[in-house]
Amino acid sequence: MLSSKTALVTGSTSGIGLAIAQTFAKNGANVVINGFGDAEAIEKERAGIEKEHGVKCVYSGADMTKPEEIAAMMGQAADTFGAVDILVNNAGIQYVSKIEEFPVEKWDAIIAINLSSAFHTIRAAVPGMKEKGWGRIINTASAHALVASPFKSAYVAAKHGIAGLTKTVALEVAQSGITVNAICPGYVWTPLVEAQIPDTMKARGLTEDEVKRDVLLAAQPTKEFVTVDQVASMALYLTSDAASCITGSLQQMDGGWVAQ
Ligand code: NAD
Repeated sequence: MLSSKTALVTGSTSGIGLAIAQTFAKNGANVVINGFGDAEAIEKERAGIEKEHGVKCVYSGADMTKPEEIAAMMGQAADTFGAVDILVNNAGIQYVSKIEEFPVEKWDAIIAINLSSAFHTIRAAVPGMKEKGWGRIINTASAHALVASPFKSAYVAAKHGIAGLTKTVALEVAQSGITVNAICPGYVWTPLVEAQIPDTMKARGLTEDEVKRDVLLAAQPTKEFVTVDQVASMALYLTSDAASCITGSLQQMDGGWVAQ
């Protein structure tokens, strides 16, 4: 389905991004993966994608807080594959704290990684997509692009921001064969969610089980975590011709969370 396409997925060494990169590769796309982690494990992942799916996969260690490294990553993708046909802005971090104690450097990092990096990648990718008359931009937003939760001021602000960026760019490129959409998952069981449990326990004075049941899945009527493969399937669908009229949308995938 995606043979002859190149997909770049930020934050794809783990969790949702890794599942999306693997799904795109499985469907024939060459992929650029990005993110942090153990160098040996990343190389194993990169080589595994090539071997398993018969596609080309390159890795960029660009830090999404650094515009010059993002530009270099986009240049590397263009040099290797000609252009980026499918761009997935997925890198993200979380920090949980009361607003009055929220560390300034955590605010800055979350806004940079979860929001501004998408501005930098999109502005670099759009000219090539316009030239081809085809492109897909998919932003991994969150239910927190639509509703808020306490103690997540930077994350909620960044995710609401990415919703606005998604809609704005969708309008600008609507007649160029490019769609721009956001996926808004509820809680997906990934290292990002696992890592915020201790801070939430501290901020709310709860046990681990109480955080899972009463905080995380409290908002999710199905009481089930979304899976990374479900998010990746939605991303794959958004790349298809069947989805060519879906643009500027925020795709809820949250077990009914924001229906409440
Ligand atoms: P994760 O921690 O498993 O993966 C995050 C990825 O981002 C990793 O590859 C990491 O190396 C990368 N990353 C972090 N900082 C980076 C930086 N400065 N530069 C480059 N890469 C960086 O998390 P995940 O749960 O898979 O989250 C992926 C996206 O999904 C995020 O945008 C997150 O906000 C969003 N999301 C997650 C959930 C959830 O419940 N897990 C729900 C809704 C939205």
